[in-house]
Order: sequence, then structure tokens, then C-alpha cells
Amino acid sequence: MARYIGPVCRLCRREGMKIFLKGERCYTGKCGFDRRPYAPGQHGQGRRKLSEYGLQLREKQKAKRIYGVLETQFRNYFAEAERRSGITGENLLMVLELRLDNVVYRMGLGRSRTEARQIVRHNHITVNGKKVNIPSYEVKPGDIIEVKEKSRSLTGIKNIVETTASRIFPEWLEVNLDQFQGKVVALPTREQIDVPVQETLIVELYSK
Ligand code: SF4
Repeated sequence: MARYIGPVCRLCRREGMKIFLKGERCYTGKCGFDRRPYAPGQHGQGRRKLSEYGLQLREKQKAKRIYGVLETQFRNYFAEAERRSGITGENLLMVLELRLDNVVYRMGLGRSRTEARQIVRHNHITVNGKKVNIPSYEVKPGDIIEVKEKSRSLTGIKNIVETTASRIFPEWLEVNLDQFQGKVVALPTREQIDVPVQETLIVELYSK
């Protein structure tokens, strides 16, 4: 599937905030947004007043970029969120949050979602003992996500775990990084999903 392969920091600058797409680099002085906190392009530093549609569009783009999802897939997630009972906007964030690449990231097995996606794609992850290499795979409560036995000694994986050991894990995930393991203990609630997205604006956009 096609992916965005352009400069990543540009996306933060476009959204007008740090959306932490580059792992550790985001916390250093090399952060592109810290250095140039304005939109990219010739008119990036000009005055910017967004219309109602513009605001809704930006929220949708931000959510897509945070989770690394392209338009068609995002629309499918929205359709799924609408189909489920409950609040559509919250359902949308919940289904995005339950993507395997995001869960691997939340468990500290990726310094960024991009890295977590790569860990999944490269066959290092099992769900309930079975290899799963599909980043969009949706996990559910009770699922156990682990790094494959053989992959645990890889320097790359060890380095990631060392870097993320101090991370605070979400309450809906029970993580044991010493065992390279995590368990989904509940569905994430909106309060437990710390993404800076106003999901109601996305719902308004797609409801037009
Ligand atoms: Fe965004 Fe991270 Fe780049 Fe900073 S370093 S602009 S937070 S992706």
C-alpha cells in the first residue's frame, strides 16, 4: 500500500503542533517544528485564519498522520466507527488505537508508530502465539501481544526497549517489557487516548 514518504517534520509544521512522528528526535533540539514553528511553504509564515471546513479538515489530516493511515483506510475506519454502537468520534479513535502497530508502539516496542509498524511488518510480533505481520490488525481485549522468542535478542529490539522503558503505559494495556509482552485488558476509553485530536470535527466533516 502507498505510504507518505516525504519529509515527516513538514507534517507537524502543517498541523501547527508537534505530533511526534520521529521518536526520540522529537525530544531533541533537532525537532523541525521547534526550529521552524510555522507552516511549510512560501506562505507558511503568513496570517492563517481557517474556515470551519478548514478546521475540520485539519483535524482529520492530523488524526491520519498521527496514526499513519491513508485516506481510504481512514474513511473505512470512520464507516466502522459509525456502524458500532456508542459515540462515533470516540469509536473512531478507539479503532485507530487498537491497530496492532499502535499497540506495539504503546507497549514501548517502537520509538514511533512508524518504527512499530516496521517491527510488525518484519515478522517480530505474535498475537496469542501466532505471527501477525499486518499493522492494521485490530486487537481485542484478552489478546496477548509479544515479541517473537527469536527476535528478543536482536540488538535493534533491545535498543528500543531500553529507550522506552521509562514510558508510561496506558491503563488498557498491561505491559511487561522484561518479557517483551503486553496484554490488552480493556477497550481504551477516550480519556485514555492521549492524541490531540478533536474527533467531533472529523465527524462533522464526514457528515456533510
Ligand atoms: Fe514533529 Fe518529531 Fe519532526 Fe518535531 S522531530 S517536527 S515532533 S516529527
